[in-house]
Amino acid sequence: MNYNVDEKGYYGDFGGAYIPEMLYPNVEELRQNYLRIMQETDFQKEFQELLREYVGRPTPLYFAKRFSEKYGIKVYLKREDLCHTGAHKVNNTIGQILMAQKLGKKRIIAETGAGQHGVATATVCALMGLECIVYMGEIDIARQAPNVARMKMLGATVIPATSGSKTLKDATNEAIRDWINNPTDTHYIIGSVVGPHPYPDMVARFQSVISQEIKLQLQEKEGRDSPDYVVACVGGGSNAAGAFFHYLNDEKVGIIAVEAAGKGIDTGESAATSALGREGIIHGSKTLLMQTDDGQITEPYSISAGLDYPGVGPMHAHLFRSGRGEFISITDDDAMKAGLQLCELEGIIPAIESSHALAIFEDRKFKKDDVVVVNLSGRGDKDLNTYIKYFDLA
Ligand SMILES: *Cc1c(COP(=O)(O)O)cnc(C)c1O
Repeated sequence: MNYNVDEKGYYGDFGGAYIPEMLYPNVEELRQNYLRIMQETDFQKEFQELLREYVGRPTPLYFAKRFSEKYGIKVYLKREDLCHTGAHKVNNTIGQILMAQKLGKKRIIAETGAGQHGVATATVCALMGLECIVYMGEIDIARQAPNVARMKMLGATVIPATSGSKTLKDATNEAIRDWINNPTDTHYIIGSVVGPHPYPDMVARFQSVISQEIKLQLQEKEGRDSPDYVVACVGGGSNAAGAFFHYLNDEKVGIIAVEAAGKGIDTGESAATSALGREGIIHGSKTLLMQTDDGQITEPYSISAGLDYPGVGPMHAHLFRSGRGEFISITDDDAMKAGLQLCELEGIIPAIESSHALAIFEDRKFKKDDVVVVNLSGRGDKDLNTYIKYFDLA
């Protein structure tokens, strides 16, 4: 079994490019060029230099001593929370802005739900002096004022999507419409391992710097480059894809993907795609997604905005169906508890998304001294208001 994408753009049964005819030239241009461009020495030099000098890579692989003692295992945290802008998303937007430049694009569009990907995109557009347009649902704009302000400070134009439920999927529709109307000068930066081929593979490759670094760092600390398990939360699945990437075909390494159970898998308010999803098409790829019997996409729910997505990328759908990945879902309450526990044990305030990955140790038992790497996808500053309300900290 191979867990990387195949030539046709599929991970097992999942993936592909299910797009309107009019989008075909844009996606095809990218498909024909992305691997060649990524392999050019020039591109790699610029990419690596920006990751080092601008993002602050390599991020530490931190041995969480007190956390480890509590569970009787060895837990290492991959500190993506220390990336510039506070999360892993910037690894991908740096890669894609360079890709856009190599393809001669002058204008960048993106869609955003909670605003984190919008901020990461606006950041790299400012860095490169490119025009940036971010589509965002009207309701999300009202809910995520600080991120809207950040995007504006960074020079982006935020355009409200006013159709449908006025949230992420409507913003995505607007972005696709824009791309169809501006096929030659515009690049569409997608923020996770979702969308039509080649996006899932391209984004996974940009994020794969995470597991590339883990291998080197673990070799130094443990004398072997692979852990017993690698754990990451999954919204669309980009931080997880990056953390798993160099271990996908190494079956000695257990892969654990953590989804948001929201208020509980059976409450109708969750984002636990592996448990609840069925095969369907979303954002141009065939994957698992939460839908009604007649194929309408179900509105997802999670206390963490970044996991509040009705599908998973095709790589993760394949990891789930093939059994290569173990999927665990964690409720809001358990995630919040785990987030606070990391604060108290290690002095690190995690993003609520990452707190889901930290929460598995209460129920999932490991062998004594197992080496477990948890990808700490982001820092909790953006979630302070949610923490304040939840724990009544005001
Ligand atoms: C956006 C985000 C996620 C979820 O996105 P993936 O593509 O699944 O990684 C997870 N953690 C943080 C901190 C985020 O900002």
